[in-house]
Amino acid sequence: MRAVDAIEISSAPERCNIEVPALNDGDLVDLSTGRKQFDFVREAAGVLDRDCVVRFRIGGRWSRSDEALSVAKAVAEGLSRELKQRGAPTKMYVEVDKAQTTYVPEGFKSRTLLPHHDAAHVSYLTPSKADLPSFQDAHRSFSGRGYTSGKAHKMYQGIFISDAGEVDSITAYYPLVPLIAKAYAKSHGLSRPPSLKDCAKFLGKNIELAITARENRSANYLTLPAALGSHLEVFNSLAPHAGEADFSAENYERFPRLRTMVEHCACGKCVGAQGRLFCQSIQDTVGIGWYPFNSAHGVAVRSDTFDLIMANNLSLIHAGLGGGAGRILVPICLVIEDTDDPQYESWLANAWRQQPMRDEVQSFWPTIEKNDVLV
Ligand SMILES: [Zn+2]
Repeated sequence: MRAVDAIEISSAPERCNIEVPALNDGDLVDLSTGRKQFDFVREAAGVLDRDCVVRFRIGGRWSRSDEALSVAKAVAEGLSRELKQRGAPTKMYVEVDKAQTTYVPEGFKSRTLLPHHDAAHVSYLTPSKADLPSFQDAHRSFSGRGYTSGKAHKMYQGIFISDAGEVDSITAYYPLVPLIAKAYAKSHGLSRPPSLKDCAKFLGKNIELAITARENRSANYLTLPAALGSHLEVFNSLAPHAGEADFSAENYERFPRLRTMVEHCACGKCVGAQGRLFCQSIQDTVGIGWYPFNSAHGVAVRSDTFDLIMANNLSLIHAGLGGGAGRILVPICLVIEDTDDPQYESWLANAWRQQPMRDEVQSFWPTIEKNDVLV
């Protein structure tokens, strides 16, 4: 087994942990149907509006996974309803997917799942039409193929921890808007953050370019460097997934420079070829490699068996750190079928304006001009 250096990262603020009280069968029905309001759900929706990630502690009280999963589903229903009262689209609904095991590359004890959006072929941050009226809704779908088969756009990404596994159960979150601001500033030679509207325009343009180039790249995903305006084809075509994994022979054949590129990384600590390419791509776009990127821009949420974690899937990207082979997750997401919806545009515009975990991550928030503030 190869040893991997521990990643240094701040913990999410204590307010992101929500204790789920004892709930009987009647409470679960009330929670699912909205017959009764629950304080802990209201509190969680407030945390999601501010910090964009919440951890429901369901653990402790339950011994069986199926019982805890029923609680998690009811909590997700209650939360979805509460978020709609706060401006999320009325067409949003809860989607429960099948359980996923954790793939650990051979020779390693745990794996690093590199930052991504869930269902990223149809779910990624885009400008709101409130900020960029010319943005086309069609550009919110990158390809018909992805790791998950569903076509629903995942607004909130949730995981029920069916088994935390034998190594670490850590999900790391990184606010995306300050990374866009940083990439914009780096490519335009600015030392101060740009305006929110400039960031929206920059992202819109990068998405458009990536979609136009998609045919020649056979890529299913808008990669992070592509969203951040990288011009290197290898960064925009390959979407590294597990940090410890290697690329396929086909990838090496297609990009002859790849083999030399993955001999090293920007921070000097990444062990696998995919992790090294990712490390170089963020150095190229935001000026920092993978290990230091975590301490500067990331926040860790630790979870126990039967917890439910829910986070904004668009304004945050997330990674899985140190996951062992025994970790089993059930995705429980809040999704929408169709983003061509005025309620979605205003929800999205607000998501751009939130400053999740502002005290924990290095601040490079875009400036919001007076007339840009939404009411
Ligand atoms: Zn590195």
